[in-house]
Amino acid sequence: MRIIIAGSGIVGLTTGIAFKAIGWDVLVCEQAPEIRAAGAAIGLWRNALDVFAEFGAGDSIRAIGAPVETWFYDATGQRYRAPGFDLAEHSFELFPRPELNRLLAQAVGAENIRLGAKLLAFKEADDGVEVSFADGRVEHADLLVGADGVYSAVRAQLVPGHPAQEHRGHHVWRGMLAAGDEPAEGSILTVGHQRARGGYARTYGDQVVWMVNQFDSEAPVGSKKEEALRRAALLNENGWNDALARLIERTPEAQILHNQIMFVPSLPRWTSARVALIGDAAHGLSPHISAGGTLGVEDVHVLVRAVQRHDTLAAALSAYQANRMPHYAQVHALADAVEAARDAHEYAQTYAEFTHWMLNEGYRASRA
Ligand SMILES: Cc1cc2nc3c(=O)[nH]c(=O)nc-3n(C[C@H](O)[C@H](O)[C@H](O)COP(=O)(O)OP(=O)(O)OC[C@H]3O[C@@H](n4cnc5c(N)ncnc54)[C@H](O)[C@@H]3O)c2cc1C
Repeated sequence: MRIIIAGSGIVGLTTGIAFKAIGWDVLVCEQAPEIRAAGAAIGLWRNALDVFAEFGAGDSIRAIGAPVETWFYDATGQRYRAPGFDLAEHSFELFPRPELNRLLAQAVGAENIRLGAKLLAFKEADDGVEVSFADGRVEHADLLVGADGVYSAVRAQLVPGHPAQEHRGHHVWRGMLAAGDEPAEGSILTVGHQRARGGYARTYGDQVVWMVNQFDSEAPVGSKKEEALRRAALLNENGWNDALARLIERTPEAQILHNQIMFVPSLPRWTSARVALIGDAAHGLSPHISAGGTLGVEDVHVLVRAVQRHDTLAAALSAYQANRMPHYAQVHALADAVEAARDAHEYAQTYAEFTHWMLNEGYRASRA
């Protein structure tokens, strides 16, 4: 059996690893000329780490993770955790994205990855799917998986009329640099004034990553550094959080990432008989729950197990969709509550409710 996977982000690469592990012939097609990692670092929860382990990539990936235990701060530096939740609900591993994607690509195998291969369109027939690329090449497979992110070309053809949308007024600035004299444990997340949030944390290789975001933000007009510093000031009433501003100051302008946040609207379907959407292509979320990547990796487990359990691909894809679509309806409801949180206290409560669900009920549903 042969699978073509469009996109070599964290989810496309994990899909490649998983199908290779169950004996399929795998081709991951990436439009960029190299394996890229958009962003600085990514926090991954147990749900994703278990999937890497299940398909044989667990140890190498764990070796580059830095454990993080979250606290939620207000602008005066007072910290909160919701009562009644465990440490597990506040614990994830932080990975440098470039290193993570390099390890995932290594596990897929260079011979199974084609770079500079931009998917243009597909044609589905009873006995297979034909995929055409911008360079004129045509490939055939039993299954096409669109792991091509929020601007997915596979989604545009499979479910026309659902382009990525702006999460209006939601802007994020991020950076990664060599650790300095900031406190090692970092301020994991500060919920400040005017709906600004942000923080920093150490990651693998003695690096530190910082992030500031703001909901309902005015359109940025200054340089990336100026705009990031403006939000950082909203998280620092009395100087307790000066380290965050120093980190932003130390980051060269060219290395600061700024994103207008995009999301994928709810879709009427994710699959056909031989084509499936996965990861951000299916459900690109606002990143304020720091779990879109984790949940996308979890999709891979559900898809592969469905393929193993069912006699036909059509039945497998329909089981995958039946598992995941209601799952994301629940994710959205919990994520909306986190977004609406008015202060650090409410944020700590709603975020713990989300992680508790993801690590328990959500995890079990993905393994049912
Ligand atoms: C600011 C921010 C912070 C975040 N923090 C976290 C976090 O801490 N934890 C977490 O779990 N998640 C986090 N997320 C979400 C997470 O980054 C995404 O959910 C995840 O990266 C999605 O991975 P993906 O593989 O589905 O898509 P992508 O990473 O977008 O990969 C898609 C790939 O497809 C390629 N491609 C696109 N079109 C084509 C085509 N036509 N042909 C071939 N290739 C194509 C692209 O070049 C790209 O390489 C965050 C997101 C943001 C924006």
